[in-house]
Amino acid sequence: MKQYRYILDYDLSMPEMIGQIRRTPEYVNGMKGVLQLVEPGCDENIIQEDLDILSAGIPENIMVYGMTSHGALSRETHSVEYRVCSVMFFDEATFSVDVFDCSKNLTPSTAGDKFKEILAEKEDIKGILMMSSDFALCPEKFIDKINNYDKNIVVFGALAGTQTMGDDKSKIFVGRTIYDRGILAITFCGKDLHIDHYYNLGFKPLGKELVVTKSDEYGIVYEINNKPAFSVYSEHLGIGMNPYFFENTCAFPFYLKENGIGLARVALDYHKDGALAFATEIPVGSAVSLSYSTTDLLLEESANNAIKMADFCPEAILIYACMSRRMLMGDDMAELEFDFYENIIQSTTWAHGYGEILHADGVRGFLNASFVVVGMREGEAPEIKNRPVYNFDSRHFVEFKEERGDGYVPLPIRLVNFLESTTKDLNEAIGQLFKVASLDELTQVYNRRALNHFMTQFVENRTRYSDIAVIMVDVDHFKMVNDKFGHDVGDLVLRDGVGKVKYLFNQADIIGRWGGEEFIGIKPNMSLEEAKEFCEQVRMRVQDIEFPTVGHITISIGLTMVKESDNSDSVFKRVDEALYEAKSAGRNRVAVK
Ligand code: GH3
Ligand code: MG
Ligand code: MG
Repeated sequence: MKQYRYILDYDLSMPEMIGQIRRTPEYVNGMKGVLQLVEPGCDENIIQEDLDILSAGIPENIMVYGMTSHGALSRETHSVEYRVCSVMFFDEATFSVDVFDCSKNLTPSTAGDKFKEILAEKEDIKGILMMSSDFALCPEKFIDKINNYDKNIVVFGALAGTQTMGDDKSKIFVGRTIYDRGILAITFCGKDLHIDHYYNLGFKPLGKELVVTKSDEYGIVYEINNKPAFSVYSEHLGIGMNPYFFENTCAFPFYLKENGIGLARVALDYHKDGALAFATEIPVGSAVSLSYSTTDLLLEESANNAIKMADFCPEAILIYACMSRRMLMGDDMAELEFDFYENIIQSTTWAHGYGEILHADGVRGFLNASFVVVGMREGEAPEIKNRPVYNFDSRHFVEFKEERGDGYVPLPIRLVNFLESTTKDLNEAIGQLFKVASLDELTQVYNRRALNHFMTQFVENRTRYSDIAVIMVDVDHFKMVNDKFGHDVGDLVLRDGVGKVKYLFNQADIIGRWGGEEFIGIKPNMSLEEAKEFCEQVRMRVQDIEFPTVGHITISIGLTMVKESDNSDSVFKRVDEALYEAKSAGRNRVAVK
């Protein structure tokens, strides 16, 4: 395969580019290819004119697709001022372009279903390039369908951008048609087609961990820690609601972890009531923190991955990058990140949208603040000894780090180190406080407040679990134990009893004291049948314990499963009713409700 890149600045016009493409040996030989066009602006007339010129100039052999970028962010930001094109010609590999117009009834999920049917008819699918617009069109729902179809297919691309945040004019296009709200997918197939990919992030969590307490599936986060989401920015960054929102916040994305991989989420916009709009859902219960990076961290990861990419010997490189990196690093350093890959092949082509897409090897779909690099090659890589060595240190990468000589640490890095260590101390202190505030003193299991908290979390996130079993335990005739042996002896029975039953629970389970001699256990991913068996196990275990002075005691257990329509109160109520039934039926037994 062969890639060409064209930047349509003042030195190269669209017709001139077409002329150059037509003169390439690949075009002359009739090879088929795809042309990616990234438009700096969203003016429909300008884009239409471009597409018309392209389709007239380079007919059927080259398929045109593309998206809008979000224009220059600041005066210094020049990289998206111009149209940027990549043309990739293929030897043996094939490609097909599908586009889904989601302006009417089609959702990303139903479009994904249709696309799955298309995929079923293809062989040797290696990668899918996708672009989508607008940003309320969560592409993850579409990607999920591809992932369900075949986990090994690499999905990559970007969300189209728009200049004005509050007014989403982002577009994608295929051939001569522009879609205001659509998803395009290019499927690359071929026995001998190879795809290599890297996800460069380099952002680190900073400050205290927060929990998303209200959000919806369209990417709106209403509340974090039960306060309007915007307050995270106003409190921690000291910024207000004004037109500089994106510039002020985009270098500080929200950070969360999925499958152990760090993800960043850049807020696209805010609502007057303090809600924040993201391009993808951040589910309730997600633990997030603000994050920040330094030029070093961003570039180091990228440079290391570029060395690996060089080993892959790509014949084409596509980069989908986030503007927030440029905001943080400044233009020169940001350019360097592109240079790493341009050193590998000169035709390396970039696109900036409102989010990057990479779905492969545990990186899940929609990304922000990242630098996604995809390399393609047809056929075997050349022998290692023929591979060029890229010296990334040759430019200012190292110089800027150590401008002042060994041992000098630049101020921004010192500040980040300081914030990081403070964050660590803070999180440790919070952990201690949480323990004090949430554990029952006598039995050292969770107290009622913590049980309430965890139950709410489980109920709100119930779709993450196959089942959630909840059990409530009450000691039979415990008043008699107290009356006969005294309150202190009763206390010891509770303490030792819990200690001897606790090991039956798993790490992910919650066990706590509801009050008096009543305890509650929450067991995620346990079916009703398994839970019944488990309750019997607990009941028999308690019966077997020989308490000093007191001898044997029995317990009654109520069991219920969390239902679709439940809130935490209704679960507690039902499990209490189940317990009452166990008591009424004669005690020392399990009842299910
Ligand atoms: P049953 O549950 O079988 O109906 O009878 P019970 O006698 O256990 O009745 P119930 O559960 O209603 O009463 C709880 C008794 O447990 C009341 C009190 O004497 C005792 N109790 C509650 N909390 C504690 C505690 O922290 N320590 C001790 N020693 N006893 C407690
Ligand atoms: Mg009792
Ligand atoms: Mg009781």
